[in-house]
Amino acid sequence: MDTELFEKVYDSIVKKESTYDGIYYTGVKTTRIVCRPSCRAKTPKPENITLYSSVRAAIRDGFRPCKRCKPETPGALGPDAMLAAQTDAVIAAGYGERVTLQTIAQQLAISRIICSGRISA
Ligand SMILES: [Zn+2]
Repeated sequence: MDTELFEKVYDSIVKKESTYDGIYYTGVKTTRIVCRPSCRAKTPKPENITLYSSVRAAIRDGFRPCKRCKPETPGALGPDAMLAAQTDAVIAAGYGERVTLQTIAQQLAISRIICSGRISA
């Protein structure tokens, strides 16, 4: 993979953007886990990353699919990425007002318990 492309994908990993979700998968050499680029887990160092164009290829190389972003499940956005994107939107919409976990949960129509378990406020 050329450096320029790697840097673009790595940038989306750092920003946890879903731009390359479903296109590239991030194999993290130190943890032996494969993630979606938008995974909310700790951002790996670029030298520890191998990019794959399929989850299968990563698994064949000995990586385990991440339990958080579930790269092996179909769909561009993983459950966390989807929820996080919606949460970001709710927070952005309520910027300037007091946004509580309850507000977010109400707007996303999810239970507060699930919400507080996934978002560190
Ligand atoms: Zn992950």
